[in-house]
Amino acid sequence: MGGRWGREVKLCVALLFPALVLGSSLGHFGWWLFFVTALLLLRQTLYLGRLETWLAQGGFGEHRKYKGIWQDIYYHVGKIRRGNKKRKKKLRRMIERFRMSTDALPDAAVVLGQYGEIEWSNPAARQIFGLKKSDKGQRIANLVRNPVFVQYLRANDYEHKIHIPAPINDNVILQIGVVPYGAGLRLMLAQDVTQLKNIERMRTDFVANVSHELRTPLTVLKGYLETLMEMDDVSALQLRSLQNMATQTDRMQLLVDDLLLLARLETKPKRSVCVDVPDLLRQMRNEIVESEKDESRVNLSLESAAKLQADPDELRSAFGNLLANALKYSATDTPVNVRWFVNANQEACMEVEDFGEGIAASDIPRITERFYRVEIKRNRKINGTGLGLAIVKHVMVRHEARLEIESQLGKGSRFRCLFPQKRVC
Ligand code: ADP
Repeated sequence: MGGRWGREVKLCVALLFPALVLGSSLGHFGWWLFFVTALLLLRQTLYLGRLETWLAQGGFGEHRKYKGIWQDIYYHVGKIRRGNKKRKKKLRRMIERFRMSTDALPDAAVVLGQYGEIEWSNPAARQIFGLKKSDKGQRIANLVRNPVFVQYLRANDYEHKIHIPAPINDNVILQIGVVPYGAGLRLMLAQDVTQLKNIERMRTDFVANVSHELRTPLTVLKGYLETLMEMDDVSALQLRSLQNMATQTDRMQLLVDDLLLLARLETKPKRSVCVDVPDLLRQMRNEIVESEKDESRVNLSLESAAKLQADPDELRSAFGNLLANALKYSATDTPVNVRWFVNANQEACMEVEDFGEGIAASDIPRITERFYRVEIKRNRKINGTGLGLAIVKHVMVRHEARLEIESQLGKGSRFRCLFPQKRVC
């Protein structure tokens, strides 16, 4: 490299030195110097012009063989160009491989731009949504006009997935999820879940049908048991057996009712009205007082007048389960505190607190599972189905609410239903 620069310097010296000699011997020193400098400048400008023409043609054409620093410049440009070519080839191969894998994907994948316009889609997406290649650049909401889908895209909250019928076939159910990435881009993934949904529906339908069908025989059975127990010629042993049978029938009836309620929660469309929660809680407290004939146990503290956009029947059953548990799992001489307030996060909160037996930390994550009941040695047998908290959890999910559980064994428990601010009406 030094040699090549040296050649340029030597050339300058070789032209400047005679100019100096001629200038000092013949006079007009300045003119000689100007002449030589102009000559050198002209040469470099000429070479620069050629380089520019060569680059403008893409740097592919033949270039003259230069010596000195210009040879180096052409060599380096050529090297960069060869490197770029290699990188481009590698990138093309990578894109080809990516394209092949997305083409093979059975799930639909669509990349959406900032305004929901289609930037890219795989063949499955085109098939599932009935899109065409020429739809690129079109807003997806103009092509898939399902209101649930349009609202989902607009809301920008992609924590949950949605289920909608496929635009080209109503019998196909699609599960759609969106993953935001980069600067305003979104990857939309859609999956055909028709079979899964059908199995799920069969399961809930089956449970609902069985529960419904069991109701009538149970009522008949209960009726006969009551009649038998009232008869005069029943021995003490028979009476005990009949009472046991009646208790078990009651338990079965509770189970059937809870199972039916759960099935309904899974299939019933959501209903939403403005519910006066303080009034609802007041009513529930009064009902407990009437049935238990024990006014002192439930302390109701209504610290907010907030009303909720909700399904009143579902709220009643969720709050009712929490209240019934608090009363069931604590001694009859301890209070149960019920509060309705708005917390620091502006969430509307229904809290039920008891001072009963409490729940072990290891059981807390499991008690909302269906049929999960904590096995502890209790002095008295407490009736229950293990479905109450599963119902509460379901109702909370349907209302975008959270269930918070705090408990200490032997000290008591605190259950909180936290509703988001947007639910307050
Ligand atoms: P169950 O019909 O058995 O009450 P739940 O689903 O309502 O069914 O509750 C599940 C289990 O959680 C109960 O069996 C009980 O062990 C425990 N549990 C629920 N609430 C309380 C409470 N307030 N205090 C102590 N344990 C509770």
